Amino acid sequence: MIKLVLLDVDGTLTDTRRLISVRAVEAIRKAQKEGIIISLASGNVVPVMYGLKIFVGISAPVFAENGGAMFQNDEIFTFFSMDKPKKLFDRMEGEGKLKGILSNRWRLTSMAYVPTGAVPEQIAAEAQKKDLVTVDSGYSWHLLNKGQDKGFALEKLKETYSLDYDEILVMGDSYNDAPMFKKDVVKVVPSNAEESLKAIADHVAKESNGDGVAEVLQNLQSF
Ligand code: CA
Repeated sequence: MIKLVLLDVDGTLTDTRRLISVRAVEAIRKAQKEGIIISLASGNVVPVMYGLKIFVGISAPVFAENGGAMFQNDEIFTFFSMDKPKKLFDRMEGEGKLKGILSNRWRLTSMAYVPTGAVPEQIAAEAQKKDLVTVDSGYSWHLLNKGQDKGFALEKLKETYSLDYDEILVMGDSYNDAPMFKKDVVKVVPSNAEESLKAIADHVAKESNGDGVAEVLQNLQSF
């Protein structure tokens, strides 16, 4: 039986215009009333996740920066350091290899960028030398510490609520969601998901984005 649902935000709760699905928000509220724990994990920053948690009405902790930071009970928890991502970002920005995005001013454990003077593979190779990783969320690239991914967020939730993997359903649409697609969790994608993620999913929703989320939340007992 599914007890916890961990959702990606961009491309899953939101559509191609980045508008949040009202149907998904209503389905989340209803599922929570029925006792399901709902959490969010995004590459976005704490202030955005703070707003989503409050305005959507999510009770569980929510995760920013691909699992690097968590917001719960009016407190921000960081699990990784900003030192190495910031240092490498500053150097590569100085060399004209990449450009930062607006939300970097709110980041605590990672940096986000758009490749400019270098191809993504070159930036990834530089990152690897510093024990860092890069990931494309489909909206921007992220420079992260090793082990900083949505799988880390999943483990935190599993531990917090003392759950088994098969009591957790995860849903996301792109490559940076793959780390939370662990062996025994129920892995679901909306119909708009990247093909590589569909290939490792247990279930592909009929509908896209937030409509897909609503479809899955309304049929949780079938998973
Ligand atoms: Ca996404």
